[in-house]
Amino acid sequence: MTAKATPAKKVIATTSLAGCFGCHMSLLDIDERLFDLIELVDFNKSPLDDIKEFTKECDIGLVEGGCSNDENVHVLTEFRKHCRTLVAVGECAIMGGLPALRNLMPLKDCLDEAYRNGPTVADSNPQQILPHDPDLPKLLDRVYPCHEVVSIDYFLPGCPPSADLIWDALVALVSGNELALEYRTFKFD
Ligand code: SF4
Repeated sequence: MTAKATPAKKVIATTSLAGCFGCHMSLLDIDERLFDLIELVDFNKSPLDDIKEFTKECDIGLVEGGCSNDENVHVLTEFRKHCRTLVAVGECAIMGGLPALRNLMPLKDCLDEAYRNGPTVADSNPQQILPHDPDLPKLLDRVYPCHEVVSIDYFLPGCPPSADLIWDALVALVSGNELALEYRTFKFD
């Protein structure tokens, strides 16, 4: 009699680009199902385990937030390279979300309001200095949703997507089953 091989755990990576970490909070809101999750998957690069660089190829990448600066683009491109399946999680990743409100005006006008002309500038930045440290990521002309930068396999709607939707999606992705999107998982009122 041969012993039954234990199926290998899927490997997940997660990141937050121009987002607020609310989507990661929603992932943690699966509560006690976290114990089931760690039976199913291993985490690689993610703020959840503080692994900062990919150490292996991943099955699933979860991306929160869109691209507001060149570092966001770099991280998203790395996720596309290292993750077989890439999921845009939440409205910021799907269509730019709140950070994309700056797309309503040119970048120069945003910076002028924040650092030169805004009502708090006299107290907080009297010399009207624009941030110029070379280590700071460069802002893009606008905020880009993830699918305009790399190809995305799945989109999970919501701000944030509910914990139930994230759980259902992860179980479907890990098991290879099709996700049945139930109305309760994306109805917000
Ligand atoms: Fe935060 Fe909502 Fe954007 Fe998620 S979709 S990162 S919860 S603002």
